[in-house]
Amino acid sequence: MPTQYVDGAWVAGSGGGRREIVNPADGSVVATVAEGTSADTHRAIAAARKSFDAGDWAFGPVQERVAVLNRIADLLAADRAAVARLETLDTGKTLRESEDDVDDVVAVFRYYAGLGDKDGGRVVAAASPTVSSRIVYEPVGVCGLIAPWNYPLLQVSWKLAPALVAGNTVVVKPSEVTPLTTIRLVEMLEQAGVPAGVVNLVLGSGPVVGAPLAESPDVDLVSFTGGLATGQTLMRAAAGNVKKVALELGGKNPNIVFADADLEAALDNALTAAFLHSGQVCSAGARLLVQDEIHDDFVAELGRRAERIHLGDGLDPASESGPLVSSAHRDKVEGYVRLGLAEGARLVAGGRRPEEADLQGGFFYRPTVFADCRRDMRIVQEEVFGPVVTVERFRTEDEAVALGNDTAYGLAGAVWTSDTGRARRVSGRLRHGTVWVNDYGPYLPQAEWGGFGRSGIGRELGPAGLAEYREAKHIYENTEPAPARWFAG
Ligand code: NAD
Repeated sequence: MPTQYVDGAWVAGSGGGRREIVNPADGSVVATVAEGTSADTHRAIAAARKSFDAGDWAFGPVQERVAVLNRIADLLAADRAAVARLETLDTGKTLRESEDDVDDVVAVFRYYAGLGDKDGGRVVAAASPTVSSRIVYEPVGVCGLIAPWNYPLLQVSWKLAPALVAGNTVVVKPSEVTPLTTIRLVEMLEQAGVPAGVVNLVLGSGPVVGAPLAESPDVDLVSFTGGLATGQTLMRAAAGNVKKVALELGGKNPNIVFADADLEAALDNALTAAFLHSGQVCSAGARLLVQDEIHDDFVAELGRRAERIHLGDGLDPASESGPLVSSAHRDKVEGYVRLGLAEGARLVAGGRRPEEADLQGGFFYRPTVFADCRRDMRIVQEEVFGPVVTVERFRTEDEAVALGNDTAYGLAGAVWTSDTGRARRVSGRLRHGTVWVNDYGPYLPQAEWGGFGRSGIGRELGPAGLAEYREAKHIYENTEPAPARWFAG
């Protein structure tokens, strides 16, 4: 069956290419999908352009777009188990995580369905009673939506829901490694009655299929979630027609534990922060900062607990953590572990592949804890994007803040303390887009998500996540026209 969707029809790759999609838990092929070409992307852009310019979707009643989002949420909720299974087969994450992802995606579609018709603009006080001055919000136009492999359905939905309700038309480009749930989502969009050309789907590698979205003068906005280097390439490519760019890039997120914290809660969450989805999370708590007086016991216990994490196929309910997404990605993580050792970090746990016979076919790697790390180490500064946490020691609050901000990124961070004054001070001083206090990881559809520094540009979720996909237009209407009398005439 063809797996790209252009102008309301399912189509094969124009070059006839196919790509095998691999289950990271055992290396088996779970699907074969189209491998698109840049010509496919250009056709998809043309379809989105034609649909946008026709205006039926973009400038039709917002209630129709709201209804589509609600239908998508209903379809996803009804198909939760199957969609979650597909996500696990594709990414390797545990079924529990995939089910949480589907629930979160349903919530995001419902949130933007709710927000879509709430704020049509505003009336502005004008200098004269004969002038009507108002701000209206209009869609930006054709949007290229490019997603990564770690949260395929979730990341594409954070873009798609606000883009569609605002009236944009889109070309979606999922990661070539994990396209399956996005294909399923587009099937649901078709079922939900999205008109031809409004949503288009192209599949294939970034440089071939994704790059034209950033380069094309017919695309008005590109929203990208992925790595820093790719984001920089996209920004340069987008300069041609000065298209809007929204970038959600990586993170190296400090998780700061003070001695006065609830240590059991901090320990347990430090483990989840570092090793959920095998650390393949942009907001992973990969940089743990622990206050001097509790440091040694805390790190020893963290190491013991990391060694007890049960790895396995994400479809097995007994598995606490799944594999890495691909063999190539595991190679990259292993390279970082070698680097950490060479830089003088002390291995407390992991640092190896698992020994179990039934895990040998998959891309598994043991949760890894490095202690005695210093801020200038590459293992501390660069995003490993795997099950590797580095631990640094600090003495004072000022030192914790300085270390927490000593990163080129600025996506997320956390502070653990029972001192509310300190919680306020530290959360206020951390230069990150999200700061958790005595928790790690929650996000809300109604709260903005995004990065300071090199973690990106713009925000997803919340009202700002919708604003990314809207242009504000000022309409100034003089009800009693009169000559300007500026020139003698
Ligand atoms: P990636 O940058 O390799 O790829 C992301 C997407 O961009 C893929 O679809 C890829 O095909 C495409 N792409 C690659 N080169 C391209 C090009 N030249 N032009 C257009 N598109 C191109 O990232 P990844 O490895 O898939 O994902 C991991 C990264 O994503 C990590 O750095 C992680 O931190 C980041 N991430 C960030 C967030 C966030 O919310 N900030 C969320 C999830 C992941």
